[in-house]
Amino acid sequence: MDIEQFRREGHAVVDWMAAYRRDVGGQRVVPITEPGQTARALPGAPPPGPESFDTIRADFDRLIFPAMTHWAHPGFFAYFPANHSPPSILAEMMIAAMGANCMSWQTSPAATELEQVVMDWLRQMVGLPTGFAGVIQDYASTSTLVAMITARDRHRDQLDRSVVYLSTEAHSSVAKGARLAGFRPDLVRLVPTDERYALSPAALREMIAADRAAGLVPAVIAATLGTTSSTGFDPVPALADIAAAEGCWLHVDAAFAGAAAIVPELRWIMAGTDRADSIVINPHKWLLVNHDCSAYFVRDPAALTRSMSTAPAYLKTRFDETVVNYRDWGIPLGRRFRALKLWFVIRSYGVEGLTAMIREHVRLGRLFADWVEADRDFELAAPAPVGLVCFRWAPADRSLPPEVLDRANQTLHERINAPGELFLSHTVLGGRYTVRLALGHLSTDEALVRHVWQRVREAAAGLPA
Ligand SMILES: *Cc1c(COP(=O)(O)O)cnc(C)c1O
Repeated sequence: MDIEQFRREGHAVVDWMAAYRRDVGGQRVVPITEPGQTARALPGAPPPGPESFDTIRADFDRLIFPAMTHWAHPGFFAYFPANHSPPSILAEMMIAAMGANCMSWQTSPAATELEQVVMDWLRQMVGLPTGFAGVIQDYASTSTLVAMITARDRHRDQLDRSVVYLSTEAHSSVAKGARLAGFRPDLVRLVPTDERYALSPAALREMIAADRAAGLVPAVIAATLGTTSSTGFDPVPALADIAAAEGCWLHVDAAFAGAAAIVPELRWIMAGTDRADSIVINPHKWLLVNHDCSAYFVRDPAALTRSMSTAPAYLKTRFDETVVNYRDWGIPLGRRFRALKLWFVIRSYGVEGLTAMIREHVRLGRLFADWVEADRDFELAAPAPVGLVCFRWAPADRSLPPEVLDRANQTLHERINAPGELFLSHTVLGGRYTVRLALGHLSTDEALVRHVWQRVREAAAGLPA
């Protein structure tokens, strides 16, 4: 592809992108396709010679697009959002055009320094104190793995007796990170939660006492701010006290809900995080940055680089004593120029624009939760403090057995999603099937949320059939 064809095709792709974002609401959110269908339609062997870009684009339209799930669809309310935005998409295009590898200062000086600056902006936005240093990792799972590895190195001498504590509601990446870091799987303890799905400090203290009595060493407490099932908030101030008393590493997983801390009246969610050793917040979930972009903050960067640094001769430069080399702050050597996305987004919307978006999502979540609570055939399955609503069909007639209710809620959920206009996901809370509505699109407004509630009520007609 020569430069003139690149320019032509590039303009056509941008036109496609703009039309996609304008019209995606007309697609089914989730495609109708069978496992294996796309792969079967593609040649099993690579093309021996070059193919025209026209043919490739036509095959994209014909074979790939129809089997995509549209996360950018306004009716996508599943999981947590991967919200993103035009300025971030433009940044991605420029990052791709430059193709820079930002592994060290020397390999991309401006990328390194921009990352230092925008991560400090983000630190201020979420109210972390000075002294915390930030680095962009790809995903929260990686940030948490990096935290576990750094914590492991602090307890290296007693690794076979070191215990990691997380709640039963913690994201699966936390226990996985602990195992991958080399903590013994049988010493990764799941602490029970209270009725708000927050880790119980009393239960944690009991577990620690029992472990101490058995000669084990409490090593890591992993708290979650905004659990994946229901946005439960672990009591970080109490956990920070325990971590300090026991000499534990305190990691805070705020992958989704941490973004809400930019809203002044929601800043409370970060209480106690100033005493954490490490914190992860994903701008690729709720701050309009395309994934991947996971913000990882640490209180002691020297501990991080001790665990992560490599200095082979071919990477040494004369600047190494005076600059940050982000290759020493994470697992891969190569690094994309992710800071550019964060910079474009924060400047395009301003802190006020981003704050207004999250404030509105939280308000709409509260509103939906209020409708659920006011309806005698529905119940809230968990508090809905930050734009995620967990609810169930629960008719006034309380005599229905739990398995009938579970089946009815599964039917309700299938009916909501079947037409393809909306996509909600589910979880299990307190052992019961629960439907989740996760708000997160920049464009989500009250009319749409009202429409969703209308569809939910329609889908409940005739249950438990
Ligand atoms: C989404 C989520 C994760 C995983 O995030 P990735 O960036 O996909 O790895 C971890 N923890 C919590 C609380 C999450 O919501």
